Parts: sequence; C-alpha cells; structure tokens
Amino acid sequence: MTEDESASRPTIVWFRDDLRLADHPALDAANASGRPVLCLFVLEEGTGRRPLGGAAGWWLDKSLAALDADLRRLGGRLVLRRGDPRRILPEVAASTDAAALHFNRRYDRAGSDIDEAVMAEMTRQGVAVSSHAAWLLFEPGAIRTKTGTPFRVFTPFWKAHRPHLAPRPALRRRPDSMSFFEGPAACDPLVSFGLHPTRPDWSGGLAERWTPGEAGARARLLAFLDGDLSRYAAERDVPAAGASSCLSPHLRFGEVAVARVAQEVMKVAAGGELPADASEKFLAEIGWREFAWHLFSSFPDLATHNFQSGFDHFLWREDTAAFQTWTAGRTGYPIVDAGLRELWQTGFMHNRVRMIVASFLVKHLLIDWRQGEQWFWDTLVDADAASNPFGWQWVAGTGADAAPYFRVFNPMAQGAKFDPDGAYVRRFVPEIAGLPDKFLHRPWEVPPLLRLSAAAYPLPIVEHEEGRKRALAAFAARR
Ligand SMILES: Cc1cc2nc3c(=O)[nH]c(=O)nc-3n(C[C@H](O)[C@H](O)[C@H](O)COP(=O)(O)OP(=O)(O)OC[C@H]3O[C@@H](n4cnc5c(N)ncnc54)[C@H](O)[C@@H]3O)c2cc1C
Repeated sequence: MTEDESASRPTIVWFRDDLRLADHPALDAANASGRPVLCLFVLEEGTGRRPLGGAAGWWLDKSLAALDADLRRLGGRLVLRRGDPRRILPEVAASTDAAALHFNRRYDRAGSDIDEAVMAEMTRQGVAVSSHAAWLLFEPGAIRTKTGTPFRVFTPFWKAHRPHLAPRPALRRRPDSMSFFEGPAACDPLVSFGLHPTRPDWSGGLAERWTPGEAGARARLLAFLDGDLSRYAAERDVPAAGASSCLSPHLRFGEVAVARVAQEVMKVAAGGELPADASEKFLAEIGWREFAWHLFSSFPDLATHNFQSGFDHFLWREDTAAFQTWTAGRTGYPIVDAGLRELWQTGFMHNRVRMIVASFLVKHLLIDWRQGEQWFWDTLVDADAASNPFGWQWVAGTGADAAPYFRVFNPMAQGAKFDPDGAYVRRFVPEIAGLPDKFLHRPWEVPPLLRLSAAAYPLPIVEHEEGRKRALAAFAARR
C-alpha cells in the first residue's frame, strides 16, 4: 500500500456517553491524525450491561439525532449500529479498512471489560487504539488517601481533589470543519432502535421540558451561568426556585463536558460577581458525581448490593400495593406526591425532593431501596449508573458516607421548609391547589368546610409518627 492509500484509511471515533463535538478528546485526536473520520455509535445489547430505562432511552434517541444533524452540517454523519461492540467494532474496522480507533474511557466495570476486549481484538487486527479521559474531572484512583486506598468519605475526597481543579487550557471548542470517511459503512436507521415510546407515547411532558443534544446543553449551561448560578447557594434546595443547573441529563449523555462546566463556573467566579460560596457549592455538587463514580468503579454492584453488607439481612417489607401508590404519587403526603408526579411528567425530580421521596419509600414504607432505584432508573432522563444507586444507598443508610439510619425525613416539615408557599406542590398536585398555605403540607387537617375542595386527594398511606417509629425500630434492630 502506498503512503497516499494508507492516509485515506479512516479513523473510527466510537461515541458513547459523550454525544458532543466540543471538548471531545477522542474526536480531537482523530481529527489531529489527518485521516478521514468515521463517527460510530453502538446501541449496546446482549452484553450484560444494564439496559437503559425508558426516559433515558427517549433522551438518547433525541441526542443521537442531534449529533447526527451536527455532523451532517459539517458534511459527515453518525453511523449507527446495535449489538455487542466486541463483534461490531472489529467488523466495522475490517469492512472500512480502518487504521485507528479513538474513544473516551468509561468507568463501569462491565463497560470497561467490553472496552478491553475491543482493544485487544482491534490491536490484533492491526488497528491502532487510543483511549482518552473525558467523563470525569479526575480519573478514579488518580488521587488516593494517605494510605493508598480509595476514598470512602466525601469530605476528605473533595478536600483532596478540589485543589487540583485548575483551568485546563487543553479544552477545545467544537471543530469548524472535519474530514469524513466517505466509503460505504453499514448503518441501522435510528428508528429501528425503538427508543421513542409508542403505544402509548408518554413522552409529551419530557419533550415540553427538555432539549436533548449539544446545543440544548450549551444553552442550558449559558442560562445557568448568566442567572441561576448567583442564586445557587441560597436557593438550590427550594424546588420551585429553579436555581439548580438542570444539567444532569446533559452530563449523563455527555452533551457537555463536565470539565467545560467546571471551567466556565470557575471563570464566572474569577470575575468576582458571584456571592462567595455560589461557585464552590456548585463545584462540590459536581464533586458528588465524581465521588459516586469513583466508588462505582471499585464497587460495580452498587445498584444491586448494599455497600454496607451489614444490611444484607434487613427485613424489607414486600408490599406491591404500597409501592404502586408511591410510584403513582398518591401517598397522601403532598411534597412526596409532587416529586413523584414531577418525575412521571417530566423525567426529572429536584434533588431535595429526591431525598424526601426516597426516604419515604425506605423508611416510612420500609420498602427495599433497590425497588425505588429501579423506578428512578426507568423514569429519570438523567438516570446515571453510579449517581442513582449511590443516592439511594445514601438515603437508605446502606451506602458509603451515608445518612445515619435514624434520619427519617418528616414530609410536612420538609415541605414547610423548602416549599413554604406551596408553589411546587400546587404545580404538581392540583387537587389541593386551592387549599390555604397552612394546610398544603398536611391536607388531612383541613376543616370540614374546606375538605370538599380537596376530596380527590388521598389520606396518608401511613401515619407519619407510626411510620417513623416502625422505621427506627427496624433499623435499630438491624444494629
Ligand atoms: C435517590 C437519589 C437518586 C439520584 N439519582 C441520580 C441520577 O440518576 N442521576 C444524576 O445525575 N443524579 C442523581 N441524583 C443526584 C441529584 O439529585 C441530581 O444530580 C440533581 O438533582 C440534578 O439536578 P441539577 O442538574 O439541577 O443539579 P445541580 O445542583 O445543578 O448540580 C450540578 C450537577 O452536579 C451533579 N450532582 C449534583 N448533586 C449530586 C449528587 N447528590 N450526586 C451525584 N451527582 C450530583 C449532577 O451531575 C448535576 O447535574 C440522585 C439523588 C438522589 C438523592
């Protein structure tokens, strides 16, 4: 083969949870190689990795369409395939005579095992393989405790990592032009992935709320930097305030690089116009995402096994009817029901409310956290393989650096504190929207004259004090 012929052999960029063109180390490296680029996405099936939930599948469908449209504007396209990457990658490389493969690393054990197998096979085929860091700010294991072990507690974890979070000049904006591989490459139609729900199509509320794709992520980040960030520290716990970034689904699908988010926030902070703790509070939340992923990389069973094995014989209640009442947002506790209905309608739930509804399931109803985790997995657009089980185990008290077992959120007190004027509850629980503020978080106390206006709303599934005592007894017995 002449040098000219060799230079026309493509470089494959294997897109995964990094559906963007900007700040994409694998794509940048492929472009820098001077070879034509073949952009590939594989819908992974039959590999043993956790299958996507419905809401995340909806998001992926739109995000892939957006990435394909962005590539077409540059003169290329996204090649789609479905199946096991260990079979598909070598096949695509052989059929296109690819010379190289670039991808960004992932840190779930099942995913990295697949990647290793792909690397080994491609190398055997004579393809040069390179992987890059892009998913996290810090790769798991890069910084360890003084004794060389992975961190198990968030505060020292973040204290050790935060000082290393410095401006990174290596970030790159999206490319203005690219040279694409123009030869034939088999491609499945996106619609054949079946990610958009039909019969019924329940996605109307998701489409109303979200704009998946890199442009949507960029717009959300800019809106956050321009406004909500300054209110973040003071109002991020108030669900009706809209002061958090709502970047989680964009980060989940890598439509914006987490490094870009951190950089832009630090840049605004350096401008000196933010309240003192706004940027640090926000960066620490990004730190929780890091912590969850670092933990998950060394504890791959986080979604199925108690991190603290002392809970393995805990007697969770089997109560299908109560679980269904909880998923439907009809527990009789307005803040809990508002959260579950927000989730069902929009594919999202505010962080404070996630903690309240999760606590209600595992403490008041004594239902296994894994059932709640699976429900979130199916219904959240940001369902994340590490953060979701991490969050559930944190609330249940079974996790690393978890909430103590005797912490049982009081839904009335939480509602009164974080939704004092009831704006959030009124939006999602319209049956009680007409009640005076003082009854909004305890509608069962409403006087008979007003009761009629809230008649369609259920009575509490379990009385609060009774549920709390039952939970404390069960958790204390475990000790
Ligand atoms: C039971 C439970 C389940 C959860 N499941 C998920 C999940 O599946 N996916 C997910 O991304 N987050 C999950 N979280 C964490 C958190 O609720 C969401 O990240 C947050 O609500 C997203 O909103 P935001 O983007 O406006 O967050 P912001 O407050 O703006 O935070 C910025 C980013 O930091 C990260 N982050 C913030 N808080 C946390 C946290 N506690 N743990 C991990 N990362 C965090 C997210 O990437 C978020 O987008 C869960 C929390 C709980 C209590």
